[in-house]
Amino acid sequence: MNFVLHGVAVSAGITIGHAHLVSSARLEAAHYEIADSAVAAEIFRFDAAIARARQELAAIEAHVTADAPAEFGAFINLHRMILADSSLSHAPRELIRERRMNAEWALVQQMEKLVAQFEEIEDPYLRERRQDIEQVVERVLKTLAGGNAAPEPPASAEGNLIVVAHDLSPADMILFKRHKFGGFVTDVGGVTSHTAIVARSLNIPALVGLHHARQMIRENDVLIVDGIQGVLVVDPDAVVLGEYRLRQSQHGLERQKLKRLKSTPSATLDGTPVELFANIELPQDLGDVQDSGAQGVGLFRTEFLFMNRKVLPTEDEQFEAYREVAKALEGRPVVIRTLDLGADKGLSEGGPQDMPNPALGLRAIRYCLSEPQLFLAQLRAILRASKYGRVRILLPMLAHAHEIDQSLSMVKQAKQQLDDKGVGYDAAVEIGGMIEVPAAALALPMFMRRLDFLSIGTNDLIQYTLAIDRTDDAVAHLYDPLHPAVLHLIAHTIQAANRGGTPIAVCGEMAGEPGLTRLLLGFGLRNFSMHAQQLLAIKERVLRTDLAQAQPLAQRVLRQSDPAKTRELLLKLNS
Ligand code: PEP
Ligand code: MG
Repeated sequence: MNFVLHGVAVSAGITIGHAHLVSSARLEAAHYEIADSAVAAEIFRFDAAIARARQELAAIEAHVTADAPAEFGAFINLHRMILADSSLSHAPRELIRERRMNAEWALVQQMEKLVAQFEEIEDPYLRERRQDIEQVVERVLKTLAGGNAAPEPPASAEGNLIVVAHDLSPADMILFKRHKFGGFVTDVGGVTSHTAIVARSLNIPALVGLHHARQMIRENDVLIVDGIQGVLVVDPDAVVLGEYRLRQSQHGLERQKLKRLKSTPSATLDGTPVELFANIELPQDLGDVQDSGAQGVGLFRTEFLFMNRKVLPTEDEQFEAYREVAKALEGRPVVIRTLDLGADKGLSEGGPQDMPNPALGLRAIRYCLSEPQLFLAQLRAILRASKYGRVRILLPMLAHAHEIDQSLSMVKQAKQQLDDKGVGYDAAVEIGGMIEVPAAALALPMFMRRLDFLSIGTNDLIQYTLAIDRTDDAVAHLYDPLHPAVLHLIAHTIQAANRGGTPIAVCGEMAGEPGLTRLLLGFGLRNFSMHAQQLLAIKERVLRTDLAQAQPLAQRVLRQSDPAKTRELLLKLNS
């Protein structure tokens, strides 16, 4: 039967292959009463399964390669902690002993209790962690059934296999590094779920949030994963299959063709240079940066060095990471953003937590100024690295003049501390600020007077302008980069900075969206920073842009208050 399911695309591209169902052991768990005489043996069976699951996690941890994203280690750690918790490792024993439940039933019963508690939690990130509990329980159930913890299809067929699962634990996902699957789809998972985070790093077509895919799809069904449109086609007929094969090869060819632009200078048709920079989270992203031909790193989100670990990185460890990036860029600039912790970017321990409204709370620069020792250590580490390349410092989430003044005096203090020790740094290191709070965009002269450069963080600027949580699925449809208020703030910021001679960039997701490149160019933007994978597609847009046409059209978009007309004009701009 031919049908189509819609989900959330978390990783782009099109893949066609055969379904490989990852069994959801939980759904298949047996429920039966055991005899009094079998209690001891059943508890023994349960304990042995817990021990085996523990060994499996330890084995996966031992296989994590040095280049695996830092999140992997943290996911496994979290699963080990959940497994060690007495509510899972001991409470089911009571259910076996007192209620005569078989081990699987006792475990699932206990899990449902825990999951129900998590469902009550308001914080969407924490609520999503119930999935980690489910994944751990599934692992134990699989060992109870004597099965393997993860699918191991024949290697030869892997590229043609599309993994279909109710959910995939991030620990199981590590195996995707070794196994080259064609793609994967899952029933659950929002765009902020761990599975989605890992999916992006694997760069294979993937969809999440398909709801009942696992139940509706049979092993070996032919599937098309359209990670561009967020569509899954099951058992397509010959016409649809032919159409998608064409699209797939076109997509592959386009990406291949783009590679030729790697060393082409980035400029519009009239020769106006446009700088294209890459965003990174960790030094290990440098490979992609080099492959993209980026002119440097426009945003190094340093908070990722601090996440998923119990002990925070020392000044020296930070220095090593910043120096590695500065050196590898061989004279090309790196914009190192100071810690943007808070909101959805929490720490495993400590850090800004338990706030009534985290996105509006002690986040980013606010948190750093409240923790001067932490901030000073980071500033010293960045300054020390500035001797090894072209380093710039970027301050996130600024809104007040006193935040800038205080930060600048902290930089001065950090320099003094290094001077006292005779440690070298680039004395002329430039300090910039992020424009990501509407107040900052509206009070720009206050920023331009104090800072060397500016960078617009459109992700937060949109969140704070439209009052919608950027991580909340329920309001995702209201996240609109083309809202007139958003466009106004962006255009005004670019134009005011250009007039005042303050270098200005955009480093939010809008910079990596080819459909918006000409609009931003028309507003006067000449510096874009985005994830490396997007860079060549943006360069292609830039190379085919006629500024004389783009500028007046962009101004017309700005004057527009009818959303339908805005989209019409954008189409014209992109034609
Ligand atoms: C932004 O807000 O657009 C930005 C680049 O910062 P982050 O996405 O890290 O909040
Ligand atoms: Mg931001």
